[in-house]
Amino acid sequence: MDNQAADIGLIGLGTMGANLALNIAENGFKVAVHNRTVEKIEGFMHDAGPLASQLVACDTVEELIRAIKPPRAVILMVPAGPVVDEYIATLRALMDEDDIVIDAGNANFQDTNRRAASGAPFLGIGVSGGEEGARFGPSIMGGGRKVHWDRVAPILQAIAADYQGIPCATWMGEGGAGHAVKTVHNGIEYADMQMIAEAYGIMRDGMGLQPAQIGDVFEGWNTGVLKSYLMEISATVSKAVDPQTNAPVLDIILDRAGQKGTGRWTAIEAQHLGVPATVIEAAVAARNLSSRLQMRQKGESLFGAAPQRLAEGQLTIDTLGNALIAGKIMCYTQGFELLAALSAANDWTLPMPEIAKVWREGCIIRSTMLNDMANALAESPDANLMFSDFFARLMRETQTDLRQTVSLAAQSGLPAPALSAGLSYFDMMRTSHSTANLIQAQRDFFGAHGFERRDAKGAHHGPWGSNS
Ligand code: NDP
Repeated sequence: MDNQAADIGLIGLGTMGANLALNIAENGFKVAVHNRTVEKIEGFMHDAGPLASQLVACDTVEELIRAIKPPRAVILMVPAGPVVDEYIATLRALMDEDDIVIDAGNANFQDTNRRAASGAPFLGIGVSGGEEGARFGPSIMGGGRKVHWDRVAPILQAIAADYQGIPCATWMGEGGAGHAVKTVHNGIEYADMQMIAEAYGIMRDGMGLQPAQIGDVFEGWNTGVLKSYLMEISATVSKAVDPQTNAPVLDIILDRAGQKGTGRWTAIEAQHLGVPATVIEAAVAARNLSSRLQMRQKGESLFGAAPQRLAEGQLTIDTLGNALIAGKIMCYTQGFELLAALSAANDWTLPMPEIAKVWREGCIIRSTMLNDMANALAESPDANLMFSDFFARLMRETQTDLRQTVSLAAQSGLPAPALSAGLSYFDMMRTSHSTANLIQAQRDFFGAHGFERRDAKGAHHGPWGSNS
């Protein structure tokens, strides 16, 4: 073996790491690979088939370092948290000063900021697209020093998905910028999934449609404005049949969804920064509620099952589809607002149109609408997305359908928390005379916080007298 033959190293041959290594190899780069459970390396090399000639199997981290051409770069594809810190410490002890460690897992961007602050070459990159994306072209959101990104960009851009010839691998900014963008991506992913699930619930319980019929609806939506990977897979899973029972697969899957926490991180960041990300927050809460199966069962036995059938023709599929369009615009509007706030709070200059572009292919939230968002954000990068010409027009066309859907769902006891949150956000965002005057008065009454007047400048107090 040529000791210093590999172009890059990769540690962690799990679902993502193994596929990423094969993707890198297939693109003509030589990859040195290592895994904690060494026995798995042999199986991986065997399964790699002809690509094995592009892979260097290394039983130890020391061996891996020796196998890579300097200046080296090593990708970590392991669970976020202390494991990453442990590997960084091990690698640093063996590496040269200008060798780069790349954390490609789903790190909390605050951890990435901390790791980058040590000064040693470090990139935090968000990788989206799941197993298939990792193997055939993920979307990659890079963060760290630009000079380090530029050194590995040829490999990352070669393995990334491409949208009409443009690689979906972009440098977002210093430190944790890439992981922050990936976090918001995942928050939006939670919300996109939740809103599709709410439409599914309305069709299943409100309209009495069977999974295969719902699959047909999703398939139809996947030819228009709502065309997206998540809509496509929702159609596929809705139509799938369980080979053991011949029942629709959806009907045998337990209604309890797991999570790894990235949606929650997005909601927490939004709260920290005072950004209304209510659609994402509703989706995270819905996932939390889904896990409380026993409590929901108790609720149903106490209060009776909520969902009631809608009257025939009360809600059309077109109206429901338009409601999803409007909800999706609200969700992304909030997501991009959050990105702008993260950018300001961390001294980044997150490239908004580029973020929409990097999400157009390879990642889980890829959709036709993201291209329109890229165009809208390129025209006015600092504007609220819902105020751009394109999306303002689309909201005017669809908002009454969102309202009709949410109100009918509420009347029939069909939970639609994310769509409702989107509607409330829309209504608050177009209300110049809100109800916060009462909040100001209440705060002044119990805490002497003062209030502003409509007819005069300065801080004022109310005539509350001894009651306050
Ligand atoms: P897997 O569970 O499939 O693989 C985890 C890998 O990390 C294995 O190689 C495992 O080694 C190694 N590992 C786990 N714990 C330790 C430890 N304590 N010390 C050393 N090595 C350890 O995970 P994924 O491939 O799914 O995920 C990897 C990263 O990618 C995570 O950060 C995840 O959040 C992120 N990610 C995952 C996506 C997905 O769709 N799965 C999508 C995008 C990002 P061993 O074989 O020895 O157990």
